[in-house]
Amino acid sequence: MSSPRLEIHLDKIHRNARTLVERLALRGIDVTAVTKATLGSPEIAEQLLRAGVAGLGDSRIENLATMRRARVLATMTLIRSPMRSQARLVVEHADVSCNTEVDVLQALAVAARTAGRTHGVVLMVELGDLREGILPADLPDVVRVVLDLPDLELHGIGTNLACQNGIAPDAAKMAELSRLASSIESTFGVTLAVVSGGNSANLDWALGTADIGRIDDLRLGESILLGRETLRREPIEGLATDAITLVAEVIESKVKPSLPWGTVGLSAFGVAPEAVDRGDRRRVIVALGHQDTDPAGLTPPAGLEIVGASSDHLVLDAGRRPVAVGDELRFALDYSALTRAMASPFVAKVIKVGSRMVDHR
Ligand SMILES: *Cc1c(COP(=O)(O)O)cnc(C)c1O
Repeated sequence: MSSPRLEIHLDKIHRNARTLVERLALRGIDVTAVTKATLGSPEIAEQLLRAGVAGLGDSRIENLATMRRARVLATMTLIRSPMRSQARLVVEHADVSCNTEVDVLQALAVAARTAGRTHGVVLMVELGDLREGILPADLPDVVRVVLDLPDLELHGIGTNLACQNGIAPDAAKMAELSRLASSIESTFGVTLAVVSGGNSANLDWALGTADIGRIDDLRLGESILLGRETLRREPIEGLATDAITLVAEVIESKVKPSLPWGTVGLSAFGVAPEAVDRGDRRRVIVALGHQDTDPAGLTPPAGLEIVGASSDHLVLDAGRRPVAVGDELRFALDYSALTRAMASPFVAKVIKVGSRMVDHR
């Protein structure tokens, strides 16, 4: 098998998704599975749908197009605000998009009219994390704009927390979103199909005992793929955290001094590393680097420690472990490492189906 490679266990992804779907169903919440870290993999999308997710969401229109072309049948939501320049593509490949800008809504309406379809709109509300969102005081005006554009349908409202500033999606924030939903419905005499409370950081709240209010949807990516909630990055009970792992090959293994010698300048990525003298150590180089993944998001096998990375080399201290050239090492990934590895043309993607590994198409 070629390396580096991502090994994707479809059965574990399926079980993670089904477990979350079932637990959240008890609370009246649907799951929109977020596929952005999978590059729109149709195989993974099919597993998510079989596990009972209500729809698929992605931040890139290209990924939604990939799944559409592969005939994945689902409601597709673009969860990043559309680029105005992509309005035509958005209407073509997404049923619904999350929006915050009137200019973009107008462009979507024109594109929808030209294409002869109706495009669904979720208006994202800013509740304090300071990434995307319409300030609550401005929401009614934007709702009015959407209702006045005949080729757009107001599908719902949503919010996104815990991404830019780590603001927790707690009971107070969710109650505020619920109040906004009820207020929009009574002011405008409409029904919102979706009130989307957030992402994997919402699971503590959603699976706790707080009143769910009007929230009926969460957009979940990391918790399904990596089995962790994201507020504290704790593993979620009953979920697999090793559904996707990264395997790479050792290209050098030598005992060397732990301190560099010579005049110190900058290293390949700018900073001179801080070295501690630990005497002679086994240093291992793996053929993996910034061009393949986010090295800071990797967890090495027990007994090994990552001491540095450049574009093509990952250097580890192997302690007393006997590691030989040609050995393969398996790493756990965080979300950043996963998205980068998925997007890297240098990383092969293989899928474990039953006991067989097959190339991802
Ligand atoms: C990425 C993203 C999600 C999914 O977040 P996870 O932490 O992976 O669950 C949800 N909503 C928006 C707007 C996103 O960008």
